[in-house]
Amino acid sequence: MENGATEVNSLTEQISNLETQEPKHNALQESSHDVVVTRVDDDPILSVTTFEDLKLNENLLKGIYEMGFTKPSKIQAKALPLLIKTPPQNMIGQSQSGTGKTAAFVLTMLSRIDFDLKSLQALCLAPSRELARQIMVEVLKMAKYTPVMTAEAIRESNVKSYTTGKSRNEEFAEAQLIVGTPGTVYDLFRRRIINKNTIKIFVLDEADNMLDQQSLGDQSIKIKNMMPKDCQIVLFSATYSREVRSFAERFAPNANQFSLKVEELSVKTISQFYMDCKNEQHKFQVLDDLYTLLTIGQSIIFVQKRDTADIIARRMTENGHKVINLHGGLSANERDHVMDGFRRGDAKVLITTNVLSRGIDVLQVNLVINYDLPTDATGKPDFETYLHRIGRTGRFGRTGVSINFVHDANSWEVVKSIEQHFQREIIKIEIIFPFNNIC
Ligand code: ADP
Ligand code: MG
Repeated sequence: MENGATEVNSLTEQISNLETQEPKHNALQESSHDVVVTRVDDDPILSVTTFEDLKLNENLLKGIYEMGFTKPSKIQAKALPLLIKTPPQNMIGQSQSGTGKTAAFVLTMLSRIDFDLKSLQALCLAPSRELARQIMVEVLKMAKYTPVMTAEAIRESNVKSYTTGKSRNEEFAEAQLIVGTPGTVYDLFRRRIINKNTIKIFVLDEADNMLDQQSLGDQSIKIKNMMPKDCQIVLFSATYSREVRSFAERFAPNANQFSLKVEELSVKTISQFYMDCKNEQHKFQVLDDLYTLLTIGQSIIFVQKRDTADIIARRMTENGHKVINLHGGLSANERDHVMDGFRRGDAKVLITTNVLSRGIDVLQVNLVINYDLPTDATGKPDFETYLHRIGRTGRFGRTGVSINFVHDANSWEVVKSIEQHFQREIIKIEIIFPFNNIC
């Protein structure tokens, strides 16, 4: 009992310490390991040390500096010269969360656009509307001093844009750069609202996820097949399983590649724990107690199914916790409303499915709970999703905590294989009931 109490208290302490933490001055997760680059030719292009070295349009440089980027990150320094060179070459890039991949491909897209040519030239696909919107925010900041016309191709109910007053179709027709989700983009092509003929660059963010998931993959392939022959194809992600990598190599043939060693991908600043629950029902009790006991900054609770998200959101609310819930079953407006509220910090606890496991940056998130462990349909551990999920915390050089709920033999096996796969200890936290007694 004594021991358990100490452990829970030390967890409380760890989590409360996180709240007072300021991010380090540099927002980037810089790896001490080198980026490994594989090139398709032996053109002697070196990595750059400044953004000026890239010989970009001055207005683009101005945008970059205004974002507070003084010099390229490690992966930007190595990848950008290859990404922006002429003639364009494909790229398959892999580096851990928070290493500046977005800026690398956004800058590449913007550098390829001829602002006088009023037609679509750059297309970027992301697996979720939330990520597409986040990428567009980065595009708009970087392009602030350029006349680029952009549009977001995500499912939406608004007929007119709030900012320009134009109809969405007008916006799409005029856009030089589009960021969107595969379904909506495919639909725009099918209805001939956007024109593919002048597209010069096609980017897939979280590429492995896009190619791996049945429907996203099918749509991405169909869209890719519509691209002009000389279109540059750029794939970025933090992870690629072996099978997906060989698929990626066919999707983006003859690509330059860069990658960080896999062990470097296991995020070091995140402490990983597990709690041994008695059974499925007991998990809810433990969750409820955790939130009663701990003062937590912002946190994300991941579950496998939409239904579970709805059920635990309802029960947590009934028990007096302020939580919000986001999954693919909600309408577009509901999803935007929930995500915007979470980004503003209106709600501290977000319950969600794998739809938000990737790419989403919310600085204040210092705890990720795997209420359901990430597994594939057969119950085998899904290492990539695990890494992406816990990577939602510990961003921007902060530290974070992740807690995994174990409740039966299979989930125990899953935690043990995750531990082995990443060679990082996942520490057991004893459960003492009721938690409230030890406060
Ligand atoms: P990734 O996609 O690799 O997970 P992001 O693109 O989300 O990472 O970048 C992580 C953070 O680093 C973002 O806040 C981004 O604005 C910032 N960032 C990117 N490039 C630079 C740079 N050159 N200098 C400083 N900050 C940067
Ligand atoms: Mg990213």
